Amino acid sequence: MSLRQRTLRKFYGLRAPQTGVHDEPAALGGPALRDKRIPWPKWPVHGTKERIELMRTLEGGNWWYGARVAKFEERYAEFQGGKYCVTCSTGTIALEVMMQVLGVRHGPNPAEVIVPAFTFIATASAVARMGGKPVFVDVDDSWCLDPERVKEAINEHTKAILPVHFAGRVADMDQLNQIAREHDLTVMEDACHSWGSQWKGKGTGALSTGGAFSFQMFKNLTAAEGGAIVTDDEGFADACRSIVNCGRTKDAPWYHHPELGSNARLTEMQGALLLAQLERLPAQTARREENARILDQGLSGIEGLTLQAGDPRVTRHSHHLYCFKIDEAAFGCSRLAFIKACQAEGLPISEMYYPEPVYNQPIFKQLQPEQPHACPVSEDLAWRSAAWLNHWLLLGTSEDMQDIIQIVRKVKHHAPKLASLDCKAGRE
Ligand SMILES: *Cc1c(COP(=O)(O)O)cnc(C)c1O
Repeated sequence: MSLRQRTLRKFYGLRAPQTGVHDEPAALGGPALRDKRIPWPKWPVHGTKERIELMRTLEGGNWWYGARVAKFEERYAEFQGGKYCVTCSTGTIALEVMMQVLGVRHGPNPAEVIVPAFTFIATASAVARMGGKPVFVDVDDSWCLDPERVKEAINEHTKAILPVHFAGRVADMDQLNQIAREHDLTVMEDACHSWGSQWKGKGTGALSTGGAFSFQMFKNLTAAEGGAIVTDDEGFADACRSIVNCGRTKDAPWYHHPELGSNARLTEMQGALLLAQLERLPAQTARREENARILDQGLSGIEGLTLQAGDPRVTRHSHHLYCFKIDEAAFGCSRLAFIKACQAEGLPISEMYYPEPVYNQPIFKQLQPEQPHACPVSEDLAWRSAAWLNHWLLLGTSEDMQDIIQIVRKVKHHAPKLASLDCKAGRE
């Protein structure tokens, strides 16, 4: 937290009228629980490190892929506990490159890749763009692939399983790798929420053949845009590098192209930002974990709220999002009413969710109209219950966390009165 933020909290905090959970809800004209002049942490975070690295790059003259990107790749591989890191332009491209190396191709009898139904579009679109068929499987209370449903979805066309570590909560990699071994499938990770997350002490990306990461601006590690593949397999890393770099291969002449590649290289500007951001990440992750524990304690007893299920085998958690579910009947008001009421109390809780299971997105209705879907957990998350806080709120102080808990308690206390805030027509 910045000095400015701390000072503002003190200044306004002293003058603010003391308000509590029993006061009239702010959405209905009462006093907001948190003074809106006290700022929440902002994202992205930057400072002298970023400025110096960027200026040195600018003046150094080499602006494209070079020493900074290479150094970042080395450090990021090490940070995730993998042997190799291949950077590329976005997380989406990282997934597409992995699918190409996996051997997904356009043509009859497309390879099937099992993906969660509740995720960002790119997990599935990367499979489809390379010619494969994403097979949508439901998630469980971890918000990650349900291994039992994965087993049911396997057939003779299945080639791979592509779990998402939702919000940084690592999917059950023991079970998914076991299922893959039994059926001779490949596992690759959509690790685009999970910088630094670990399963039994090992980093994501290094838990399977390879993992795709995103460095887009709202991600925990960012260069505005950017992506990477982390893997322990040298051959896989070389194949990915070739595609990212115009189909060139190691040590071959510059204008020699054995593979069908693209150009998805990062620039040194991005390398400069990523090196600086990576230095910040361990302390930020520790802060998020500490604050998430405070929220877990404060929110776990509230009737009608269910936190995303953890697992002791997740030994480090990026907390890209702080996720929970709202059950309208048990909580007393709908998700939309909850969010509007929290916002009125001064909590910048996001109104942006994955609004549909991915198979209901227009493009997949068009591409795969025949696919039957039984993903009740994903549908409930998308349509009714999923809510989350963005990771930068978890960079706040413990007092900020207490404010969040008090705001949620206040909204819970008044929930039946707040139900009318949900002026949106229900789903038909
Ligand atoms: C952000 C994200 C991606 C894509 O990353 P981009 O860098 O934005 O292309 C893929 N999958 C998931 C789950 C994501 O959250």
